[in-house]
Amino acid sequence: MPENMALQPPNPRYYTAEHEAFRASVRRFFEKEVAPHAEAWDEAGSFPRELYRKAAEAGLLQPGFPEAYGGAPCDAFYRMILFEERAWGGSGGIASGLFSHTIGAPPIAAVGSDALKARVLPQILSGEKISALAITEPGAGSDVAHLSTTARRDGDQYVVNGTKLYITSGMRADYFTVAVRTGGPGSGGVSLLLIEGDTPGLSRTELKKMGWWASDTAQLFFDHCRVPAGSLIGEEGKGFAAITKNFNHERLALAAAACGYAQVCFHDALAWARERHTFGKRLADHQVVRHQLVDMATRIEATRAMLDDLASRLDDGAAPVAQIAMAKNMATRTFQFCADRAVQLLGGMGYMRGSRVERLYREVKVMMIGGGAEEIMKDLAARQLGL
Ligand SMILES: Cc1cc2nc3c(=O)[nH]c(=O)nc-3n(C[C@H](O)[C@H](O)[C@H](O)COP(=O)(O)OP(=O)(O)OC[C@H]3O[C@@H](n4cnc5c(N)ncnc54)[C@H](O)[C@@H]3O)c2cc1C
Repeated sequence: MPENMALQPPNPRYYTAEHEAFRASVRRFFEKEVAPHAEAWDEAGSFPRELYRKAAEAGLLQPGFPEAYGGAPCDAFYRMILFEERAWGGSGGIASGLFSHTIGAPPIAAVGSDALKARVLPQILSGEKISALAITEPGAGSDVAHLSTTARRDGDQYVVNGTKLYITSGMRADYFTVAVRTGGPGSGGVSLLLIEGDTPGLSRTELKKMGWWASDTAQLFFDHCRVPAGSLIGEEGKGFAAITKNFNHERLALAAAACGYAQVCFHDALAWARERHTFGKRLADHQVVRHQLVDMATRIEATRAMLDDLASRLDDGAAPVAQIAMAKNMATRTFQFCADRAVQLLGGMGYMRGSRVERLYREVKVMMIGGGAEEIMKDLAARQLGL
């Protein structure tokens, strides 16, 4: 936490000295390697590929993956720290591209064959190759079980046809973890395939977006792509279960990231309120402004407490699916509130391109849609809670 930030430090009941050392190293990386370039890379719509290797050298791409393949197993708190602290880079676009392997590679690590893991995970975790996840289609977003990209078995290959939409790192990924239909309708017919970026028949189109400009988001077209049968991730027809498990990790990561961005918004709003004078006093000395800052801090503290509780339950072996879904909604709402308040407090400056809160304000919505939209999270929580 930056000095004089007015929020509580991380709860020592959960965070050890080792956790805090990791937090400091993640923060340092994002403040030094990302923040100074965030505006330029966002405007350019891309960031250097070299950043993946640098992040790997700093130990940021490996947490949570098995040691045998170059990873660094860790508890849920390390993962939360990683996603929360990346907010200090000030660009969700850079972070989502740089960490697209955290949604693309876990299914490989969880259910992939040893040969597949040995072939691709070390390359991904060393920052040499980029991994992406391709589930969403033009006709199937929230309703994953109705996806229509097909993979037909032909000898020792699959022949893949279909289209994927809104794929993060889609333009430059080397490995796509692709949800395909190998069987009949519904979730039981879904499998996961690893498809390499240079597979003949695969083409990509870049998409322009409201925010996350620095990440390359693409539409993918598979036209009779031939993929070795050995690239199946897990068993045929078991892809939906792997996707569901992956979603839980992604949602928790998104929640931690949203909480991090909310803190950055609070930090910038507070700094401005202490600096800026109107009507003879600092903004921070006007009661309405102080109340707004307290409202931001309240939501942030509540969100952090919920996330810490979730992480500790996960480490105890629980799988609180409903609470993860609710935490994603709560954290993204906290981020939305704090981004809105921060832009308002900065006034005209908050509306100017190049101001960090302006960029973050444009990046809120995707977090309320991606990884399971807000309404879908509520449906899921309602089902899990037996309402
Ligand atoms: C920038 C960006 C990056 C992304 N990156 C990836 C990626 O890397 N890989 C990937 O696979 N996907 C990715 N996505 C896709 C994302 O996961 C989907 O957009 C999301 O799951 C929603 O799907 P959809 O857009 O098809 O919306 P739809 O499913 O069409 O839903 C539209 C709206 O209707 C609501 N809705 C749907 N069903 C119901 C219902 N039953 N009751 C009430 N409301 C409902 C939804 O909540 C949503 O608000 C990305 C999206 C964006 C914007």
